[in-house]
Amino acid sequence: MTRSTDAPSYYHATAQPLPAQPSLKGDRTADVCVIGAGYTGLSAALELAEAGYKVVVLEARTTGYGASGRNGGQICTGFSPGQHKLETQLGKSDAVKCFRIAEEAKGLIVDRIARHRIDCDLKWGYLHVIPKSTQFDHLKHWKAEWEALGYTDTQILTKQDLEARLGTAVYHGALREGGAGHFHPLNYCLGLAHAALSAGAQIYENSPVTAIETEGEPTAHTPQGSVRAKAMVIAGNAYLGRTVPRLYGRIMPVGSYIVASEPLGDNRAMSLIRDGEAVANTNFIVDYFRLTRDTRMLFGGRASYSTLEPPNLAAYMRPRMLNVFPSLSDARIDFAWGGYIAITYNRLPDCGRLAPNVYYAHGYSGQGVALAGMYGKLMALCIRGDSERFDLLSRIRHLPFPGGPVRMPMLVAAMLYYRLRDALG
Ligand SMILES: Cc1cc2nc3c(=O)[nH]c(=O)nc-3n(C[C@H](O)[C@H](O)[C@H](O)COP(=O)(O)OP(=O)(O)OC[C@H]3O[C@@H](n4cnc5c(N)ncnc54)[C@H](O)[C@@H]3O)c2cc1C
Repeated sequence: MTRSTDAPSYYHATAQPLPAQPSLKGDRTADVCVIGAGYTGLSAALELAEAGYKVVVLEARTTGYGASGRNGGQICTGFSPGQHKLETQLGKSDAVKCFRIAEEAKGLIVDRIARHRIDCDLKWGYLHVIPKSTQFDHLKHWKAEWEALGYTDTQILTKQDLEARLGTAVYHGALREGGAGHFHPLNYCLGLAHAALSAGAQIYENSPVTAIETEGEPTAHTPQGSVRAKAMVIAGNAYLGRTVPRLYGRIMPVGSYIVASEPLGDNRAMSLIRDGEAVANTNFIVDYFRLTRDTRMLFGGRASYSTLEPPNLAAYMRPRMLNVFPSLSDARIDFAWGGYIAITYNRLPDCGRLAPNVYYAHGYSGQGVALAGMYGKLMALCIRGDSERFDLLSRIRHLPFPGGPVRMPMLVAAMLYYRLRDALG
């Protein structure tokens, strides 16, 4: 049976072609073996291949199969749980350095799109909308926090301002930022893969890593071959499963689902989001939406803290979209798909080393579109001898999720708690 999260997405229907890559057969050596062809792995591979390293990427399915080819395409500022969480962990001045890393992450996307001529519909502008009037102070606090960090391209919008921009009355105001936005996530990912291949990296698709050895020269084993390298980058994120037991409990896969309407035409699309920004509400269980280049409403949200998928995604998501945009009741849903976000316990990304030359990064907790590429770059920099910023981020402490039979029930309970918290405000 086709899993609903494997259903053809709008992104696949509009993907730029990337030639199929071979699967790994036989034993190879490389300077660096990268596991996973999403933003994290491809970013590391690109950086290293451009610096002259012999890089082999092993991908279990196809390039962009994971979250990087399925996400909402929203390019966000900072880290998922906000700056205060970083400050608690690292102190104020190192937390500021982390914010700068996250700012650089957005710049990296812009540079790569320009340098590698990646056609991926990049558009700037982001609205953080509040579902309750009592959350207005939160927006002011947020704006002040960002201004103190030197990020000033922000504006508070009242309910009235917002209603002139969005075709809905359900929100009570917004924080608008000019330095965040959206793009076609799969085409960006495929563009990174093109660039990495052009720089000399090899990508093997349909080559799932079944086990790794981390002693000495790390080695990755696939069903029909192996790669022994001087360094390894593990970038399997939520899709890695139990392949690397030491990483399994550090993240939890959370299902998130998206629908894309039929093309609405310019006028109708603009009546919903006048200036074409990305939009997300401030709930823990986020609704996120935006328009596509061909004027579809792309609406994502819900979260399932179990890996059981809803049987009919379109029917599952449609009421959520109509709650925000009742005027779409006659619009056909052309695509529905989903994927797994990797969250950590504190919702800050988790990175580190399993051995002196074996690096990993994952758990961007719903905010990896920009951050993942940057973590990939920072792992590449470590391999090239500059580990300062990676070491800073590795100092963030993480509680593991429990394993065994209590893992899922605990997360289902957490999910219910957050739903209740969003509802009660
Ligand atoms: C539905 C959805 C919506 C999202 N929306 C947003 C958003 O709007 N904004 C935002 O910032 N973030 C969003 N995210 C999160 C964001 O997409 C991720 O943080 C980011 O793509 C992570 O990139 P990655 O390269 O680390 O992981 P992935 O893109 O998941 O890539 C991991 C790759 O590793 C491969 N792999 C796994 N195990 C193995 C193995 N054993 N051997 C070989 N290969 C393996 C997988 O097949 C996969 O291709 C969303 C995620 C989802 C699922």
